[in-house]
Amino acid sequence: MIGIFGGTFDPIHYGHLRSALEMKEAFDLTEVRFIPSATPPHRNQPAATAEQRLQMVALAIQNQNHFICDARELNRHGFSYMVDTLASLRQDFPDQPLLLFIGTDAFNQLNTWYQWQRLVDFAHIVVMTRPSFNNQPPDDFFKERYTTNKTELTTTLAGKLYFHAVTQLDISATAIRQLIAQQRNPRFLLPDAGIDYITQQQLYEIN
Ligand code: ATP
Repeated sequence: MIGIFGGTFDPIHYGHLRSALEMKEAFDLTEVRFIPSATPPHRNQPAATAEQRLQMVALAIQNQNHFICDARELNRHGFSYMVDTLASLRQDFPDQPLLLFIGTDAFNQLNTWYQWQRLVDFAHIVVMTRPSFNNQPPDDFFKERYTTNKTELTTTLAGKLYFHAVTQLDISATAIRQLIAQQRNPRFLLPDAGIDYITQQQLYEIN
């Protein structure tokens, strides 16, 4: 079973990394693939280039077994749609359940994603919630797919919606970029290797 952590990662931080590790352990995953969005369709374009964001992911996870930096969205043209990414992962891993991790903020806007109803054709969706989160699926589409039975995720390849609570670290890439622009120290919000790279590349200095 493979976990998929997509994001802009501008830059990757401990909020992402801690959640990914908790998910890996909770679901006994063989690997977690971090997939930077090359050209995100839903937001202003990132401050760092796709190559820089990929490099920051690679540096952040270099010492963590079973964390993989996946460059597939940089190898496509046009907007980076998650449905295309999942289709390509399904081709690479035809017999393994795929778990797409999504934060609650992203899940609340899922119905704005390109062809969002097709996501579950290729993967299960696991929403990373707050421990106190009221686990109600939001609409009819997901009601029939929603499960509280974790084993259903292992016995089918795709198609379920599951909620899993993770430790909440109130860290955002936006706040990190702002700190750096204000010449304040972002240490302990993201790995030192990421900070070193940001310094070397002179990223985020101008807001
Ligand atoms: P930005 O501030 O630039 O919007 P971000 O910090 O929210 O960035 P993204 O790369 O946009 O990070 O997020 C990728 C995924 O990680 C999303 O599913 C999002 O919900 C989740 N995520 C973001 N921040 C955290 C956090 N602190 N803890 C857990 N998950 C997070």
